[in-house]
Amino acid sequence: MSYTVAPLARSGHAAHANRCLTALPASQVELDPSKLAIAYYCLGTLDLLGLLQTKTSERDRDAWRGWLWEQQTHGAHGTGFRPSHFMTVALKDEYTDASAPHIIMTYTALLGLAILRDDFKRLDREGLRRFVRACQLPDGSFGTTPTRTDADLRTTYCAFAICSMLDDWSAVDVPAATGYIARCRSFEGGYGQAPAGEALGGTTYTAIAALHLAARSGLHIGPQDSQLHVAPQDSQSHVGSREQGQTRERSPLSPRERAQTIRWLLANQTSGGGFSGRINKEADACYCFWCGAALQILGAGAFVDADALAAFFARCQFKYGGIAKAPDEHPDPYHTYLSLAAASMYPPTGAGETWAFEPFDCLLNARVETAQWARMHIPASST
Ligand SMILES: [Zn+2]
Repeated sequence: MSYTVAPLARSGHAAHANRCLTALPASQVELDPSKLAIAYYCLGTLDLLGLLQTKTSERDRDAWRGWLWEQQTHGAHGTGFRPSHFMTVALKDEYTDASAPHIIMTYTALLGLAILRDDFKRLDREGLRRFVRACQLPDGSFGTTPTRTDADLRTTYCAFAICSMLDDWSAVDVPAATGYIARCRSFEGGYGQAPAGEALGGTTYTAIAALHLAARSGLHIGPQDSQLHVAPQDSQSHVGSREQGQTRERSPLSPRERAQTIRWLLANQTSGGGFSGRINKEADACYCFWCGAALQILGAGAFVDADALAAFFARCQFKYGGIAKAPDEHPDPYHTYLSLAAASMYPPTGAGETWAFEPFDCLLNARVETAQWARMHIPASST
């Protein structure tokens, strides 16, 4: 089927991101657990559109850098980034829940600072390694903070992305973590939030991306079906093995697993062009990213109907800027960013230059240039 794809309203989406950004620092004492994530999606939107430099001032970017660094907190379990300011004038050795670094926010803050081209001189790398280590639970999963057991595959992905950006995996028990990922794999080929859970698009992305981040670093990640039968790791094999000089990536899925996962992901593209998060559900713009990025990582992006996908995003655009999860819904920073990220990977054919984007890094979820900046400046060897 052929689709007529309306222009992407780039400046409207940039204006929406800027509006949401400027509202953020206004109320720093109220509890807003997703403030840092909202800032990241807005900055990421401007970065993907290539409008960060022209639509924001150096003064604003400097203020956002400063605000992000203010969220880096140190304590008994190491160093990370908290979701936002909240009654944190004085930190004690033990974190209060509101001031505790949070593993998802830490991943988010590192990428946000990379978007802002920070030099990362203020990053407490040793503290960050201790924090990630403290978040890992005995079953291989990761809590959002060292004192919580609210693990799911999102936290595993964030731990792996942080290790990848640090270029240092010594903080985590990689075999235990990949064993946990394997136990989240469903009979359909997708991954649930936790073992025995229903397969979902978001958690399938986090599983596939986490495994490939580790493989990219040369760590030995066996096929997922063999992981299910792995014996408990002894303490000597705590750290994932990495051959000296090994750079060739090995596939962390067997050919059968890969084919099964690709088939499940592709089945989520609906007749309207968008992806649903699970079979037989309505399409949602965020799942276009989660499923689309997982397919790219698995080398199956060519099977996605990119024109139908872009036509879906075009219908999700709000007339005053921003992209909603579905047509006729209200826009928000999360769905705006993820729609643009998906459009970066799947540009429609013949739809004009409003849909043109810079190359995208599917594993770290950032523009390639931003991902390269992170990989260049976050490792200890960069200081
Ligand atoms: Zn959504």
